Amino acid sequence: MSDLSGKVALVTGANRGIGAEIALGLARRGAIVAINYRGDDSGARAVLAMLAAEGDTSNHAAFKGDVSDSASCQQLVDEVVTHYGRIDVVVNNAGITRDGLLVRMSDDDWNAVITTNLSGAFFITRAAAKYMMKQRSGSIVNISSVVGLVGNAGQANYSAAKAGLIGLTKSVARELASRNVRVNAIAPGFIETDMTAELPEAARAAALGSIAMKRFGSPADVAAAVAFLASDDAAYVTGQVLAVDGGMTFA
Ligand code: NAD
Repeated sequence: MSDLSGKVALVTGANRGIGAEIALGLARRGAIVAINYRGDDSGARAVLAMLAAEGDTSNHAAFKGDVSDSASCQQLVDEVVTHYGRIDVVVNNAGITRDGLLVRMSDDDWNAVITTNLSGAFFITRAAAKYMMKQRSGSIVNISSVVGLVGNAGQANYSAAKAGLIGLTKSVARELASRNVRVNAIAPGFIETDMTAELPEAARAAALGSIAMKRFGSPADVAAAVAFLASDDAAYVTGQVLAVDGGMTFA
């Protein structure tokens, strides 16, 4: 298990779903976790309570912030650094869907998804990079998606944002590598969360048919991969996209 002792980690959208599991996974490996949430403070508090119930006495805390807002992202990162004195790991996890076929997709649905899923990661990464560059260390993990690799009918906005995250990952990895700041992406496949629970049964069956391992993933599957990339075990890994998809997309 990767050791993250003493590292300060910010996870966006960590009040539920994959983000909550990532926060728990990082904390269980020794990290001090800053749990970002937008409005659901009870969800964020529940994640903190879960860690406390496990006997974890680290100084984990919840931080409110909206990743779709540039000023809010700057403030969020500044608050985390003011609180802990440093920032070692950032996981850009917050994301939304507004699915629809291209010809019926509204400007609002396009813009909301691009702003939250892609610009949000840019705002947070830009703010955190300044501190990480000064520290001469850091690890940023962007939660992309397999649909950013292969596309998906009905998700032009989401797929474009997730593909954009991969371009962001690779470009920023090149910019920050000389300062020992690593930037990687994870492309989860079909993970069982609230986001995928809404899908009709036919879509779930079709997805299962395309997964070599014949099971959906769990948030813990994603969290384990994030912990590896966040840790010094991945000290020589940057600019990579790791698919955590049970064999859905490999060539
Ligand atoms: P979810 O809807 O349960 O969680 C998304 C989280 O993002 C929530 O905590 C939500 O509050 C937060 N969020 C949304 N907008 C925000 C904003 N403006 N500011 C701050 N937080 C905001 O979905 P999930 O399945 O847990 O997804 C987590 C990430 O994993 C997303 O980026 C998603 O695109 C990605 N992903 C999920 C799957 C899957 O199968 N579930 C697959 C591939 C990628």
